[in-house]
Amino acid sequence: MSSLKHECAVCGVMNTPDAADLVVTGLIALQHRGHEWWGIAHEDSGCITVHKYPGLVKDSCERPEIVGITSSLAMGHDRYSTAGASTAINAQPHAITDGRLAICANGDIVPSSYESWHRKMIEVGCPPISQNDAELMLRILEHRLKQGDDIVDAIRFVQDNVIGAFSALVIFEGELIAFRDKLGMRPMVYGTANDGKVFMVASETCALNIMEADAYDYIRAGEIYVFHNDGTYDRYDNPSDKHAHCIFDVIYFSRPDSDDYGIPVCEFRKRSGAEFATDLPEGVDLIMPVPDSSNYAAIGLAQASGVPFDMGIVRSHYTGRSFTAPDQKTRKAVAKQKHTPNPYVVKGKKLVVVDDSIVRATTIRELIARLFKAGALEIHVRIVSPPVAFSCYYGIDTPRREELIAARLSIPEICQEIGATSLKFLTIEQLHSVVASFGKPPEHHCYACFTGDYPTPL
Ligand code: AMP
Repeated sequence: MSSLKHECAVCGVMNTPDAADLVVTGLIALQHRGHEWWGIAHEDSGCITVHKYPGLVKDSCERPEIVGITSSLAMGHDRYSTAGASTAINAQPHAITDGRLAICANGDIVPSSYESWHRKMIEVGCPPISQNDAELMLRILEHRLKQGDDIVDAIRFVQDNVIGAFSALVIFEGELIAFRDKLGMRPMVYGTANDGKVFMVASETCALNIMEADAYDYIRAGEIYVFHNDGTYDRYDNPSDKHAHCIFDVIYFSRPDSDDYGIPVCEFRKRSGAEFATDLPEGVDLIMPVPDSSNYAAIGLAQASGVPFDMGIVRSHYTGRSFTAPDQKTRKAVAKQKHTPNPYVVKGKKLVVVDDSIVRATTIRELIARLFKAGALEIHVRIVSPPVAFSCYYGIDTPRREELIAARLSIPEICQEIGATSLKFLTIEQLHSVVASFGKPPEHHCYACFTGDYPTPL
């Protein structure tokens, strides 16, 4: 059995009567990380209750059972699954039946580790009931607690023995606990309010801003934070020599107003776009993004090159998701509804079209044909990441390798296949130098989807 892949968000709040309300606010701010299911767990007098709903948070957060939560400790999860059944059983948070322990997490356990721990948990009588990685971690924690570990030792056991990416929140005995895997693959931050007594944890700082945290700090690789109800916390280290924070989170996944471990996401994207400024083709008329994920990269390129910026593609926010549609025909149809060239902007122009990535090439192939139809004279595509040529096993939804266009074709072949006038990708060296420009060591990131150099066994 293999685990379900998912990109997700977590959010937890404690020591305030509006904890659940703040968690809902945070989950809405993080909705870009997952919109198939959401869930919330809250603790009252030692007993944890979980609610889960399909769809967007805003569609069910006003139900009486949510509005009526008065607990001062709550945590929740936005889920975006990409394989298998999108059902309540796989949605998060997960809790054990006696209601003492609950978990939600962002990230994926790699297949070999998932399968071996799944087998072991069946053997020891703690069988998972879902196909979800976070539930497997819950079972391991439950088992370790039964063996006599305290919760911090049980979490350390997971960090030391489960291979993969996890930024997780746990509720246990009235405390909120946050921990990350030892390579620090997926992001997680915490903030405080009310003179440091209210704790808030979230996948990205954009949620802490909206929850009105007064201050925030990063939860670093391998760290465990135990937040207490007296307004204090304990921090435990479980260091590793290696770091592998996902670069794709900064390139595509995070919100532009988030701070990714000292890298402002919008500024990272602007600098990445600016990398193309010195060798733009002669006589181009305008620079335009494939909205919304490439807006800042296109702005950065326009600012650095002096070529005018314009919005030559209109994005609809009312379509389904093209990326996760089950077959190429549906993906193409949804991509067509999602992005429409604006002939009033592009007709008669030589365009530079900026996008964050090419995966299967569904989006860009479709757009180029329609931009030419709308009257564009030339289309120079600039992609602000290297070619995605390898699948991700750590929680970014990358399809199987056979489906990745860069796994099959060279850059000139991709250019021909998508019908662009010219095509350039950011090189790995350029990507490293953008990371370094923020004073961050490039080797502390994971680039496996571009290089195939996976930081763990798979
Ligand atoms: P594709 O159309 O398959 O080439 O995918 C690339 C397009 O989808 C780009 O416009 C990206 O903004 C977006 N994208 C890239 N990676 C992902 C992902 N993991 N999930 C959803 N969308 C993505």
